[in-house]
Amino acid sequence: MDKETGSPGLGQETGDFIFGVDLDGVVGDFYGSMRSIAAEWLGRPVESLTTEISYGLNEWGIAEYGGYDRLHRFAVTQRALYRDMKPMQDAPSILRKLSNRGIRIRIITHRLFIKYSHVASVNQTADWLDKWDIPYWDLCFMNDKTAVGAHIYIDDAPQNIRHLRGEGCKTIVFSNSTNRDLPGPRADNWQEAERLVMEAREEWKTGTSALFGL
Ligand SMILES: [Mg+2]
Repeated sequence: MDKETGSPGLGQETGDFIFGVDLDGVVGDFYGSMRSIAAEWLGRPVESLTTEISYGLNEWGIAEYGGYDRLHRFAVTQRALYRDMKPMQDAPSILRKLSNRGIRIRIITHRLFIKYSHVASVNQTADWLDKWDIPYWDLCFMNDKTAVGAHIYIDDAPQNIRHLRGEGCKTIVFSNSTNRDLPGPRADNWQEAERLVMEAREEWKTGTSALFGL
């Protein structure tokens, strides 16, 4: 049920508090994995690739080697990016705790944006979530993350965060070098994310909304 209107909200039909979770750069160390794969692909030492990247990885000079889409396709289809990436520190264990408290984990990822690697992307993602024992009720491969409902979202990509917030969706920024200019609420680690999600659920239960000022 939608708390404000009393009507069933899209995707919010269960009565549970729904946490919409982005994977890359939030639960999985996407940029760490891409950095080692890019070093190999570019034939350069990994230390030469800055960790202070922006969205699209232009700082690594990939444009003259074919650009981002080509690197990304190599990473997924030849280096099993989505199966082998490491999780972000404490993400799996804290998601387990949140799930155990009755919060419904809804994973929403835009991993299918590259053509001809969809089977690999979906299979690797499901395997990876099992491998790290990450709990989830729903796994949504979506571009428009507002199209599936959640009471609170967490994301790191600036354009996703702006879009979600523009549509009135409460969204936590998960900090990295791509999103430092965005206003909070933000989490620098998963302990802070846990606290913000628990506060948001409390506000949802009690009908207050101090955290997001909405
Ligand atoms: Mg992301």
